[in-house]
Amino acid sequence: MTIIEADLHLHTTFSDGTLTPTQLVALCAERGLKTICISDHDTTNGLQEAFDAAAAHPDITVIPGIELSTDVPGSEIHILGYFVDHSDASLQAILEDFRSGREDRGMKMVENLNNLGLAISWERVQQIAGDASIGRPHIAQALVEAGYVKYPRDAFDEYLGRNGSAYVERPKLLPEDAVRLLVEHGALPVMAHPTYSASKSDREGVSSLPDILGKLKSAGLVGMEVYYGDYTPEQVEWLHGLADDFDLIPCGGSDYHALGNPDEPEPGTVGPPMSSVEALYALRATAAI
Ligand code: AMP
Ligand code: ZN
Ligand code: FE
Ligand code: FE
Repeated sequence: MTIIEADLHLHTTFSDGTLTPTQLVALCAERGLKTICISDHDTTNGLQEAFDAAAAHPDITVIPGIELSTDVPGSEIHILGYFVDHSDASLQAILEDFRSGREDRGMKMVENLNNLGLAISWERVQQIAGDASIGRPHIAQALVEAGYVKYPRDAFDEYLGRNGSAYVERPKLLPEDAVRLLVEHGALPVMAHPTYSASKSDREGVSSLPDILGKLKSAGLVGMEVYYGDYTPEQVEWLHGLADDFDLIPCGGSDYHALGNPDEPEPGTVGPPMSSVEALYALRATAAI
């Protein structure tokens, strides 16, 4: 069995994960991980706590990261930014805008749920989110808590997924714009979960992936996730071939949120080889010159 030493896709309470950065770093250290990337949605606010926590676990290195959501017709593409500079004020202003778009959209979804007869309050969703960058999983948690669904993923199937009855589109950012934004701010852009597994709702495959990869590579994409969450060995093999074709570093991770969905892949169960981590560090060193 391959030993997993890297997990480059993880969420905390600063977006829609349920573990604090401190708890997550401790869990990853316990699982024997050596390099992890905290990649919360549209926020870098959990990074300092993660660095502080990592000081107590000398064997683990934290790469600062972020995950941006973008839209393509009928689907969405997420772009990870590795080595993001969380002290960059101009980036922070942009992220604040993204987060306020998330609030507006969340409020509208709650309104739609209310119109469907589900008594979920926006106040409760805000309480669940706390200071986090708000996301659909927070609404899903409110629906679980109120007994409308058993698991968060059921809330996506019925209400919150792209084909769900309470779904609201988010303000559009094109994937190539997200890639450029990250490059401009000194981060390494990597395409997240290039294909969603068919077994989960809202996780339809991205059609014409090679076309998209070509475009994003020209915009500055350096890697794509190959070793991801619940991908089958066949998916991994296919994606590895594509990554090679486009000269992209094969990345990946568990995308752990600790949301309580059954079969959620955990840190330490999936991730890229350390050679990918080394390639990222090498690229970062060249980019910094
Ligand atoms: P948002 O950022 O508000 O668009 O919500 C996207 C997040 O919802 C993703 O990062 C996943 O964590 C979660 N998600 C998306 N689809 C599902 C699903 N079918 N079941 C559970 N969680 C999901
Ligand atoms: Zn998420
Ligand atoms: Fe994602
Ligand atoms: Fe994610």
